[in-house]
Amino acid sequence: MTDRDYLKKLRIPTKDNPLRLLMSACLSGITCGWDGTANGEYPTALKILKYDTVRVVKFCPEEFSFGSPREMCDIHGGTGFDVLDGKAKLLTESGQDWTEGIIKASEKMLDIAKQEKIEIAVLMDISAACGSQVIYDGNRFSDNKTYQIGAGVAAAQLIRNGFKVISQRDYASLEILYSKIDTRHQIDTTKLDHHEIEWYKEYFKTT
Ligand code: SF4
Repeated sequence: MTDRDYLKKLRIPTKDNPLRLLMSACLSGITCGWDGTANGEYPTALKILKYDTVRVVKFCPEEFSFGSPREMCDIHGGTGFDVLDGKAKLLTESGQDWTEGIIKASEKMLDIAKQEKIEIAVLMDISAACGSQVIYDGNRFSDNKTYQIGAGVAAAQLIRNGFKVISQRDYASLEILYSKIDTRHQIDTTKLDHHEIEWYKEYFKTT
């Protein structure tokens, strides 16, 4: 779940003192996805790159440990927090255990976040590394593809260490962020975060 109160309290950055933002590299258009693509195009994230009041630090945890392109991987037996606690595993489609590598990658992402004094992270939801609201529960290519509420391993590492994470699908939170980096931006109050949309509420029976 996003922390909109935190976003509302974010300072107003300037060109000389820009907001320090960590972004999933693929959201910025870098082709670090498992299949050698950028995992699609997400205008809500690309918009952030246009402002000189933000300094965007880009990082791909999976590429750091496994290179690109690579096998598709998903968390089995829990969420990213469970992987960090040794209670779940990151497995590739062919069954390779990438747990150790993804934990190392999450630690690298945390080091970067600390070093760069990151104020907010915008990460790709659904990813086993970067997801923050929803991830797959087991292999996404299996016949009974299943989602679960939870964070990927790298996002979990950041959250556990006090960093705030939103996804490219948290449209209400992004509206607040845009209003900080562009003081002329009028917040669209009709926008919803990922956990507020109908699909999420129906799938996870949260209403
Ligand atoms: S690990 Fe994160 S940054 Fe890398 S491709 Fe997946 S979602 Fe994008």
